[in-house]
Amino acid sequence: MKAALDEIVKQRLSAGAAVPGFTCYGADTALAVVETAEHLRVPVILLVAPSTAGADNGPRLIRTLRSIADDAAVPVCVQLDHAKDEDVIRRGIDAGVDAVLADGSHLAPEHNAQFVHHVKEFAAAAGVVVEAELGSVPGAEDRSTDAAIDTSGKTDPDTVGEFLEASGAQLLACGVGNVHGRYRGKPDLDWPRLAAIRAQAGEVPLVLHGASGLPTSDLQVLAAAGVGKVNVNTELRTAMLAAIEHNILACRSAGEDMLSLTDLVAKAATGVTRDVLTTLAGE
Ligand SMILES: [Zn+2]
Repeated sequence: MKAALDEIVKQRLSAGAAVPGFTCYGADTALAVVETAEHLRVPVILLVAPSTAGADNGPRLIRTLRSIADDAAVPVCVQLDHAKDEDVIRRGIDAGVDAVLADGSHLAPEHNAQFVHHVKEFAAAAGVVVEAELGSVPGAEDRSTDAAIDTSGKTDPDTVGEFLEASGAQLLACGVGNVHGRYRGKPDLDWPRLAAIRAQAGEVPLVLHGASGLPTSDLQVLAAAGVGKVNVNTELRTAMLAAIEHNILACRSAGEDMLSLTDLVAKAATGVTRDVLTTLAGE
């Protein structure tokens, strides 16, 4: 069922859990993610990468995810992720997203706030929730490259209050040693910084991108630290690719040529989704 992103995140935070967003490059992934969330009776977010949304078929995929979300027995949000381009944001909203990450993290904080505020004006008119990112999260969202932990991009807690007031952002993604893609070396989240950001953010829930590769012990305590939304891309994508590769090789060596791609994707996506959902609930 359709849901407001900020509301479901706040509801889950009050229950001591975070809501995961899974990047969907096609309907197969979204179907598996939503079905798993229904089994566990928890809300979930379907993320659309800007490269996907900006492609010719982008609006068509968003409308497909919209239909899957509306049909679900649990609250499901469709969110356009990391959108820097106003045209892509407007196309995403026209196609039916519930939320957008208006990503001005590459800009100076005051210009970032202006960009988010501008997006919020037309997004709010369409009932669309706006997330912002302050500081930067290193690495590439769509590729599993190793990303060094770049401390220079960490969010400065002293800028958070002013940024939220100027931008009107309803959720805040922050950089606290998290990276997109695979972590080079051992992840080392800056918990004191996260606590300082939370103190400045007030009622605005925090978001952590780059959850793939974080140890279970970190994921389990994110909600207690004020992180109500977690983005998962690499873990889901690499699990599906590995399942396809493994099964193709197994089929070839057995001399068979029948392979159900739908089953493979569903099984791999379901396994990762179940693991992430139960871990974020502290289980
Ligand atoms: Zn991200």
